[in-house]
Amino acid sequence: MYDVVKNLEEVLASLPPGVQLVAISKYHPKEYIEAAYAKGQRLFGESHEQELRQKHIDLPKDIRWHFIGHLQTNKAKYIVPYVSMIEAVDSLKLLQEINKQAAKVGRTIDVLLELHIAQEDTKYGMTPDEVCRLLDDEEWRQMENVRICGLMMMASNIDDRQQIAREFATANKLFNDIKAKYFKGDEYFRCKSWGMSDDYDIACAEGSNMVRIGTKIFGPRIY
Ligand SMILES: *Cc1c(COP(=O)(O)O)cnc(C)c1O
Repeated sequence: MYDVVKNLEEVLASLPPGVQLVAISKYHPKEYIEAAYAKGQRLFGESHEQELRQKHIDLPKDIRWHFIGHLQTNKAKYIVPYVSMIEAVDSLKLLQEINKQAAKVGRTIDVLLELHIAQEDTKYGMTPDEVCRLLDDEEWRQMENVRICGLMMMASNIDDRQQIAREFATANKLFNDIKAKYFKGDEYFRCKSWGMSDDYDIACAEGSNMVRIGTKIFGPRIY
């Protein structure tokens, strides 16, 4: 097995205080998750609804699962009963559906709004304008079964570390603006989910408090 335990310990040691690690286990076998679990890791992220469902069945029930992938509206009902956070909400329609499904099972789901700042236009997420439009339209305030806990974003997949830093800094500024405008005094609006294996050091320097790290812990994914 890839040295999951050693890598996990190295990653944890490298994180500044207050930064939460979401161990991204997509495409990795459950033995890898068990190895990290044995070292105390309880927070894992997956990006495919069926894979997550199987792992949720097979693995300890005190694992908190974050859904980090693009979620199709009609798939929300499958993960809402057990997921602990849905990180990549990118439309009002998806937010409405999560709220509806969560009400059915008597849960309140923590969600993050996914920001699109990166240069690539292939990525999902909302532009800063779209995020503000969603929040200006006050419908979300009536949703009793979702709680918007912060923002999530991915930087451009490039080597230019200065550009990556600029994108994280843009996200951080936007987070502060949104917090002040819409969530002032709301304890729970606090998650800044940015940073992956190759750029989490930059992300932490630019205000991240939740990093999503896969490869650096579990090794390359075999698709
Ligand atoms: C796969 C994935 C990650 C982890 O990427 P690594 O480079 O393996 O650390 C983080 N965030 C999202 C949204 C992902 O899909």
